[in-house]
Amino acid sequence: MINFQHYSFGGKRALIRVDYNVPLDDQLHVTDDTRISATLGTLNHILRQGGSVVLMSHLGRPKGGPEGKFSLRHIIPALRAVLGGEHEIQFADDCISERAFAQSAALQPGQILLLENLRFYKEEEKGDEAFAEKLARHGDVYINDAFGTAHRAHASTAVIARYFADDAKGFGLVMGSEIANADRVLEHTERPFVAILGGAKVSGKIMIIERLLEKADIILIGGGMSYTFAKAAGGSVGTSMVEEDRLDTARRMVELAKAKGVALLLPIDSVIADNFSNDATRKVASNDAIPDGWMGLDIGEKTIARFREAILRSRTILWNGPMGVFEMPNFQQGTMAIAQAIADATAKGAFSLVGGGDSVAAVNQFGFADQVSYVSTGGGAMLEYFEGKELPGIAAIASQ
Ligand code: AMP
Repeated sequence: MINFQHYSFGGKRALIRVDYNVPLDDQLHVTDDTRISATLGTLNHILRQGGSVVLMSHLGRPKGGPEGKFSLRHIIPALRAVLGGEHEIQFADDCISERAFAQSAALQPGQILLLENLRFYKEEEKGDEAFAEKLARHGDVYINDAFGTAHRAHASTAVIARYFADDAKGFGLVMGSEIANADRVLEHTERPFVAILGGAKVSGKIMIIERLLEKADIILIGGGMSYTFAKAAGGSVGTSMVEEDRLDTARRMVELAKAKGVALLLPIDSVIADNFSNDATRKVASNDAIPDGWMGLDIGEKTIARFREAILRSRTILWNGPMGVFEMPNFQQGTMAIAQAIADATAKGAFSLVGGGDSVAAVNQFGFADQVSYVSTGGGAMLEYFEGKELPGIAAIASQ
């Protein structure tokens, strides 16, 4: 595997798997270019050395054939804006046509060719070898910079690596920093290490809780999943979200934490509501005594104080999942207060990583993104990395 920083890209065509699966509005304009701008360092590094770049990505969920609304053509203006108009961008309207191969073969130093949506071929998600081999023809060197799809064994993310020699494939800067930041939490941990887990369901978080019981000193559990723990401990949780088939799992986690000496802290109070809406009547209740007909939709003040204290005495902080239904203004106080506590701990020198869908949305929405150490673009891939799973996109390059 090559070292991206030390490799000489001059005169080479770098085939880069990026994650440009960005949101588009009705007019097919990019509404959030975070994933595009994240790759700027990788692109500039290659282009400034006199290399050329072939970009490949998926966009949306086409059904296995071309669909206009999922064309990567729509992202060209955003890509051009991110690059500051410095480089020419060409487009290939089919990722494996003879015309596309001719376009990539004719690329000059400093030029960029963007390939059409890989998922217009069902072979992409199937990890088809013949399709991967064709894609490989576009480059002299293969760079995977798509951390967001690293947990998928698709043709462009994993299988393609077979068609490049060990000294002609590696990770780009996005991938490199995602892995380095995750490893700073998991492997080069400054203690105490607090993991904050929230979100809707215990079932989706069992593996990460189990893994973190091996790694963390303190685990804070909030959000909908905390009511399964409260019920498992014998509490009354009213109509709060509960996974009846996970009560045993919750009990087992609590036992495991005790056995391992990990402080597993659950909410002590909740903001409860008489129905699932922002306009519902609200009051505060102890977490184990939520009246019938009422549901917990946010953590309460006592819990916030307790969680904040744990966060402020930690040196490493991992956050995945909101503390309540933060999409509704009346139930976002808990999530906001936790974001504030993480920002305060970070200002005091702690290392903080926010990873996984909804907590990333929350820090962005509340304006905390630049007050934490690192916000992962990884989503599901970051969750799987923290669960300890081998990611095919990483293994395909690193373990050969
Ligand atoms: P997840 O995808 O599992 O991280 O869950 C995120 C979702 O959990 C968000 O949409 C939140 O609105 C939801 N959520 C958080 N707390 C609660 C709660 N107490 N009751 C119901 N849903 C919740």
